[in-house]
Amino acid sequence: MLPKARREPPLNSALIDPDDRPESAPGITTSSPTDLDAARRKRLAQIPVRQRPIFLRAWKGKSRKAAIRAFCLECVGYESAEVNRCTAPACPLYPYREDRL
Ligand code: SF4
Repeated sequence: MLPKARREPPLNSALIDPDDRPESAPGITTSSPTDLDAARRKRLAQIPVRQRPIFLRAWKGKSRKAAIRAFCLECVGYESAEVNRCTAPACPLYPYREDRL
């Protein structure tokens, strides 16, 4: 029997010790909302048009299913059928591919 999944608290900057925030870590630069938008626009330009809606849905942060799907699509070169044909059962996302949800 698998152990029950532990629910992580929502990532809320108020809950994070200021010294533990990523921008405090050496070698990590701060991402402002403007940087984030620019990074996403740049990434979106590299994604086939037909796959872009799933990434937009994932970036809203309200759909884990969309986030998993987007990750899998990137993994297989944006070929939707290839996600279903994934041959990596050891991947942590394998049980959560769209055809399994
Ligand atoms: S489940 Fe398969 S397609 Fe999805 S991220 Fe893992 S290896 Fe890639």
